[in-house]
Amino acid sequence: MTNLNEKQRITCLRNLKLLDTSPSESFDRITRLASELFHLPIAAVSLTDSDRQWFKSKVGVEHNEIPRHKAPCAAVAETNALLVVEDMKTDPFYCDSHLAGAGVRFYAGAPLITRDGFGLGALCVLGVEPRLVTTAECDALTDMASMVMDQIELQRAVGRIDATTGLPNRFQLLDDLAGLNAQASGKPRLISVVDLAENSQIANLARVLGASHFDNILRRLASIIARRVGEGRVLYHVGPTQFVVIAPDEAELGPYQEYVVSELRRLERLIDVAAQMTPSIGILCYEPEAMSPENVLRSLQSAVHEARASHNGVALFSAAADLRYQHNYRLLKDFSAASKADDQLFLVFQPRMSLNDDSVQSAEALLRWKHPEFGLVSPADFVPIVETSSYVKEMTAWVIDAALKKLGEWNASGFRMRLSINISAANLCEPDFLDRLDAKLTAYSVLPSQIEFELTETEMMKETGSAMDLLHKIADLGIGIAIDDFGTGYSSLTRMQKLPADVIKIDRSFIADMAEGNKERVLVQSMISLSHSLGYRVVAEGVESKEVADLLQAMRCDEIQGFWLSRPLQGDMLIRWLCERHALTLAQIA
Ligand code: C2E
Ligand code: CA
Ligand code: CA
Repeated sequence: MTNLNEKQRITCLRNLKLLDTSPSESFDRITRLASELFHLPIAAVSLTDSDRQWFKSKVGVEHNEIPRHKAPCAAVAETNALLVVEDMKTDPFYCDSHLAGAGVRFYAGAPLITRDGFGLGALCVLGVEPRLVTTAECDALTDMASMVMDQIELQRAVGRIDATTGLPNRFQLLDDLAGLNAQASGKPRLISVVDLAENSQIANLARVLGASHFDNILRRLASIIARRVGEGRVLYHVGPTQFVVIAPDEAELGPYQEYVVSELRRLERLIDVAAQMTPSIGILCYEPEAMSPENVLRSLQSAVHEARASHNGVALFSAAADLRYQHNYRLLKDFSAASKADDQLFLVFQPRMSLNDDSVQSAEALLRWKHPEFGLVSPADFVPIVETSSYVKEMTAWVIDAALKKLGEWNASGFRMRLSINISAANLCEPDFLDRLDAKLTAYSVLPSQIEFELTETEMMKETGSAMDLLHKIADLGIGIAIDDFGTGYSSLTRMQKLPADVIKIDRSFIADMAEGNKERVLVQSMISLSHSLGYRVVAEGVESKEVADLLQAMRCDEIQGFWLSRPLQGDMLIRWLCERHALTLAQIA
């Protein structure tokens, strides 16, 4: 299997959101049946993740996962073919596998294949004695694997289909938009929403006709619209009377607008006889790289709102009408130039103090942008936009270069500092990341141990096998890895432990809450204890008062960062701050 295919396969598996979910009777029923049919003690629905086989359902085993290496189920997922190992002990490949080591002798697994042809894993049966299989048994196992897939497809559909019309709903649309954004072509995209009736009309119709009759009308109209939309295009049911269509890639704004108006006139004639409804259509034209799926949905609402007020019932919601969008798009467009200019981007450094001996040996590098027109723009405003675009590579490259350059200067003048640099998950997919980093370390004479990369919990969890490999290579170089904004995501600790991180930074929202009450303190205390028991060093972010610093010290937190110690400072200010601090401590000793 090629790397690309494997990457797509993993994405497909993760999108199904099955991994690390609770057991479910609908799968267990099939697993039990498989075990009974083969008269074997062990059966499982085993999903092939990047480095493990995780069991969605199982009988006869205690644990929930085994390593992927030499797991026969992984071979089934990779080849999409049934696999039988009659005796693992004598099998040249599997004789030294994890399963053989655990005493398993017989294995049969049928592939779990999605409609798009991706192998997710296997429905497998295992025994502790060697065994043969009949063709009938193989067929039955394959049939049961299909039943598992039906169940997976069914679960996926639940919550994604509108109950009245059976059309994909808002959640499916959000997912599909995210998928489309990932393959953006740089061209604006057109999307339209038709609202069949105004709010007051809906209430009135439901009252006069009765809810079920109204649903019938909706169903009928939805199927007419779906037919007009045509083969191969999807109609989404996103609100009580609202339907969305994504225009074909090649659609041009002018002709598309004309087409929409004519469709609306057709719809009006049709509805006229059916009921008191005034439909309107909003069109949105947007640059996919500058707009998140949630924002697309929000702008569509504005579009249809404008459409109701317009003379012909159609409104184009252009980016120009939306200030927030316009601003974001402008920032994104200007960022590339900013990263090449020498007077727009700069770094500030926020020191981090050890609670052990009050020493300051490291700081976090934080990016600042002085936009020629808007002045100082907060990273909270531009980083998320840049992160979802291809400029994320330029951004991180700029930050790494500036941070290492600074460290080199400090090294030369005798200040040994360590810097924490924020990077994005997308950077871990850059094939030349490590080589460029290595070159910079050499060029500025900086030791790998002088830097640490911060990645947020959620970003790290998104990552695939190849990104994980890169993360391990970075760690192997001696570069520290910190999990940023810890507590704000929803990662499973078992998975997090597989990351080569050594530091956990507790998000400042938890630290800010600590001053408030006991419950918040208990939470932070347990985060610290848990992290320590897993071997991490703990940094608390956003410490704003001595009271909180003292509490954290009592809780054995390792380091703190926050306004109480210092706000982020420009490079030379940081050195001055350090000198003053040092003089102060010396004076205290003397
Ligand atoms: P972050 O990585 O969590 O950075 C810490 C943020 O908390 C900084 O905001 C810092 O100024 C702020 N902060 C520090 N101490 C306190 C405190 O005591 N109280 C409060 N209320 N806030 C405190 P900043 O610099 O505005 O950065 C915001 C976010 O932008 C960062 O959050 C990070 O996610 C992102 N960011 C900043 N620089 C970079 C960068 O170079 N690369 C990437 N990828 N992201 C960056
Ligand atoms: Ca950070
Ligand atoms: Ca943080």
